[in-house]
Amino acid sequence: MKLFNSLNGSKEDFIPLNDKQVSLYVCGITPYDTTHLGHAFTYIFFDALIRYLKFQGYKVTYTQNVTDINDRDKDILQRAKEQNIAWNKLAQYWTEKFLTDMQTLNWLAPTNYLYASQQIPAMINLIQKLLDNKMAYQINGSVYSDISRVDDYGKLSKLSAQQMLKIARDFEEDVDNQDKKQPLDITLWRAAWQNQPPYIPKFTSPWGLGRPGWHIECSAMSISSLDELIDIHGGGKDLIFPHHEAEIAQSEGATGKIPFVKYWLHTGAVFYEGAKMSKSKGNLVMISDLLKKYSPNSIRWLLLSHNWQKDWEFKDGDLKEAQKDVGIVESVIAKNDISAQSASRLHEFTSFMDDNLNTPQVLGLLLQIAKTNSSRELKKLYEVLGFRV
Ligand SMILES: [Zn+2]
Repeated sequence: MKLFNSLNGSKEDFIPLNDKQVSLYVCGITPYDTTHLGHAFTYIFFDALIRYLKFQGYKVTYTQNVTDINDRDKDILQRAKEQNIAWNKLAQYWTEKFLTDMQTLNWLAPTNYLYASQQIPAMINLIQKLLDNKMAYQINGSVYSDISRVDDYGKLSKLSAQQMLKIARDFEEDVDNQDKKQPLDITLWRAAWQNQPPYIPKFTSPWGLGRPGWHIECSAMSISSLDELIDIHGGGKDLIFPHHEAEIAQSEGATGKIPFVKYWLHTGAVFYEGAKMSKSKGNLVMISDLLKKYSPNSIRWLLLSHNWQKDWEFKDGDLKEAQKDVGIVESVIAKNDISAQSASRLHEFTSFMDDNLNTPQVLGLLLQIAKTNSSRELKKLYEVLGFRV
């Protein structure tokens, strides 16, 4: 199988580190709102990948995290403040909503589904290693990574320092913090004070009260639940910088093992009404709303009809089309006619999937098989993609 690896910018043969064992980490949600179509696009792509790897005989260990500790004073914390409830209660509520939506879409639960708030010791351990390796420094109760000690910072994103600075600023990465040696230094541990309001998370650490930065969460949880070296790490492409670039600097800086991830996979963005779906634009299309009108299989079909790497725009009529295609396939499966003489199309199915998981082509193949009216193979291949029959 070939997969497009963002680290090298090319399609590469997929050869796991340990024969038929695959370790995979996908960055999870920051839970303060329900699941939108952009989230589902990423997680259903990885769901199809995992199912296909299993179909091909691989054993997959899959970790996904919940960023239930907000790094910056926004999102969960802002919402918790507005609603006057504890940050962890709010995070728990929205995580459960997310899991319900994803289960309805027939998403395979990760092997390890980890809440950042429950993995603090792993984060402290990793930050301590970075301090020991002189890759980080402590000041005023906070700890920052020292980017000047990282030779190849930018190897994933291929951005210039100036471009990084601009994006970091857009991400509210604290670039103007006077305690930092360089504006791009990563916040590993953010100091807190006992008298801060309850909507601010506070944990004890060797550096005093505080909370971990967003980026160290994923470095720590991928190491603690998988290994220091992993096969696949994924997420939406908007995570390439700063999040994944920072993860590389942290994980490799702490362990000295390079590359920490063999294959980086990044999914495209979903647009709606001319702009990328985002909370700030107010153009989110929620899965729970779509499920009121369309079947989970129709939503999965729509998502898999798009190339996982490409940006695409959701149009209101799209799900009607998807529902029509799903209806064609499912009516043939329902007839359960295995008498029709037709040659096996399994080889085509695997060759499309092996080509960087070309799911749009595979859906076209399923429709072709359906036209022969033979349910032989159709049900099996439909199920490999995660459709519920
Ligand atoms: Zn992450």
